[in-house]
Amino acid sequence: MNSGLRIIVLIKQVPDIGKVKFNVEEGRIDRSSASLETNPFDLNALETAIQFKEHIGGYVTVVSMGPPQAESSLRDALARGADRAILLTDKFFAGADTLATSYTLATAIRKIGFFDLIICGEKTVDGDTGQVGPEVAEHLNIPHVAYVCEIRSATLDRLLVVSDMGDKYLIEVKLPALITVTKDINTPRLPTLRNVLKAKKANIEVWSADDLADYGELCRFGLQGSMTTVFKIVFPSEEGRRGLIFHGEDAVEKLVEVLRERGFIA
Ligand SMILES: Cc1cc2nc3c(=O)[nH]c(=O)nc-3n(C[C@H](O)[C@H](O)[C@H](O)COP(=O)(O)OP(=O)(O)OC[C@H]3O[C@@H](n4cnc5c(N)ncnc54)[C@H](O)[C@@H]3O)c2cc1C
Repeated sequence: MNSGLRIIVLIKQVPDIGKVKFNVEEGRIDRSSASLETNPFDLNALETAIQFKEHIGGYVTVVSMGPPQAESSLRDALARGADRAILLTDKFFAGADTLATSYTLATAIRKIGFFDLIICGEKTVDGDTGQVGPEVAEHLNIPHVAYVCEIRSATLDRLLVVSDMGDKYLIEVKLPALITVTKDINTPRLPTLRNVLKAKKANIEVWSADDLADYGELCRFGLQGSMTTVFKIVFPSEEGRRGLIFHGEDAVEKLVEVLRERGFIA
């Protein structure tokens, strides 16, 4: 392993959110209804890690919890420059809410055993809670900074970052720590064809619940470790834009009348 920052990037495979269908009765996403891709914000997280590796040295491990097909996102991460990939997949992990998801990821990180920095996307495009990153940091009892949009400086023991929470904050954080990044932090690189071919043959480590048994409590994984339940999925009605067109010589008077009726003018 190189000297430098030991970085773990958490990546989630998500369905194409423009096409995916929802199973309203069962309160879940029908993941088979759309093609799968890496959560876009997680590509920014990976790019951040690769840039650290290029500038101050390091070793990048990517971890994903999901069904076996999430392997393709991990291969893509290897093609973009990650050094090691671990897939957490097991029926015991299924049905996890954010608490169980973050607990499982934190348990896997304990098994990895060493890290200076964990990088997550600010949120996913399907679950969209933005909870998993900060929760992982809490499970591991390390500091975190969310919504990082800029890295001002980095050394092997601390980062100076800008966090964008509507207002921008300049924050120094001592490592080991976790950051979640926004899409403004960088533009993710595309993998080269050579690296894509290399990544096709690369080893992806697959860990099951049993593999994590010495590092966490099995009852806190998946559905049994989830404190929340989806009762119902509701689609809010979308009201499209509406327009009125006034014709004739009295068009302006009619417009003024409508604006007055609706309280826009006195
Ligand atoms: C009650 C409940 C039941 C659910 N049941 C199911 C279910 O049966 N099946 C199902 O697929 N989903 C289920 N979900 C959704 C699932 O909990 C979330 O997708 C998951 O917890 C991640 O939350 P999020 O997508 O909001 O991530 P966010 O918190 O928005 O993600 C932030 C960042 O955390 C990291 N991250 C998040 N998830 C992962 C992951 N899995 N692996 C690696 N990194 C990750 C990424 O870096 C990501 O950018 C359920 C959710 C709830 C609330």
